[in-house]
Amino acid sequence: MLRNEVNQRFCFLTEFYDPSAALIRHYQVFYYPSDGAIEIYDPKNNRIFLKRIQLPTVSFKDLYKGNEINIFSRLHKIADYGDEYTRKYFEKTRSTTYGMIKPDGYMNIGKIIDMIYNVGGFTIGKLKLCRMSKENASIFYAEHQGKPFYNFLIDYITSDFIVGMELIKEDAIKAWRSFIGPTNVDKAKAEAPNSLRAIFGNGGKNTVHGSDSEASVKRECALVFNKIRHEPYLTNCSCLVIKPHAIKEGNAGKIIDIILTEGFEISSMQMFYIDKIQAEEFFQVYKGVLPEYSQMIDSMSCGPIIAMEIRQDDVVNKLRNLVGPQDPDIAKKLRPNTIRAKFGKNRVFNAVHCTDLEEDAVLECDYFFNKLASYKPDY
Ligand code: ADP
Ligand code: MG
Repeated sequence: MLRNEVNQRFCFLTEFYDPSAALIRHYQVFYYPSDGAIEIYDPKNNRIFLKRIQLPTVSFKDLYKGNEINIFSRLHKIADYGDEYTRKYFEKTRSTTYGMIKPDGYMNIGKIIDMIYNVGGFTIGKLKLCRMSKENASIFYAEHQGKPFYNFLIDYITSDFIVGMELIKEDAIKAWRSFIGPTNVDKAKAEAPNSLRAIFGNGGKNTVHGSDSEASVKRECALVFNKIRHEPYLTNCSCLVIKPHAIKEGNAGKIIDIILTEGFEISSMQMFYIDKIQAEEFFQVYKGVLPEYSQMIDSMSCGPIIAMEIRQDDVVNKLRNLVGPQDPDIAKKLRPNTIRAKFGKNRVFNAVHCTDLEEDAVLECDYFFNKLASYKPDY
């Protein structure tokens, strides 16, 4: 290894909300790729806050602007890059684009997300299921006003749920446009048969969207993630949360696909970065009941989660059956077809949380889709 590779060091400016002092503390977090270690410096008090150490909760993949990293159960938000070397490196390798699953892709949301992670090698930084009103659709597609296909396009995009995503990868705009393939589905099938539009598109409906420039990325992300408000139903619902470890292991798409193919409706879905306080708020009924409560809290805040409102008749029972027993080892023996048997590792890292008791379902969905969604509009 070259000398400069051994000494390579990245610097990030992080923010940590200290609840005991009710203020935001600022740190410099250094990352050493040669051994994966981190070090924290406290610029206010001019001292090293944490000596260089390897942490299982922080890996190279977790380092991008906007992510929240777990350092000894404290959630540090990566607010900015700390030096020009880091900024240049990450702006190139972790650039972002806006991708969207259009209404005709609804039943394939899981399959498409699975391909995004496991074939395309993208990271999803934000994700939100919502509807586009006619007004928002006309803003989104303003450049096409007056074209012969305009009315068809507006009807198409407003006909049902869309899934907006911020996607991260080197040269993301170009990489995503190439991954989705040509605009015309027949052309995609002929010229790029492995592209998303070739695989999932049909006739005049090409299933996925991709931004065409940095200006479009900004405009489209601002519209979908900040402006559009998604209302949960809060009736006949249950709440399912994909845990950070399952997302990091690339299993989010497979889990979503099982839910949809088993006949459940996903009526709300959003990616959230929750901290320890929010995890405790959400899981307060389990405090003193579950022996691994505090590990469970930590496991929810070491990366993004995907929360869902799921609907069906008798949905709480049916979804719990599909999810399986809390302990994946038991699930593997007794219920091998359940989500936890397939994607869980142990009682804490058991892939998903789902509503236990009928009476908690509305509260849990309300927590994510009204409470958190309203005061964390960025996510
Ligand atoms: P892209 O989505 O690849 O950036 P455009 O920006 O040109 O393509 O068009 C936006 C969307 O409008 C397309 O994805 C497609 O859904 C629809 N569209 C474009 N051209 C046509 C057409 N000739 N007929 C029907 N729909 C079209
Ligand atoms: Mg376009």
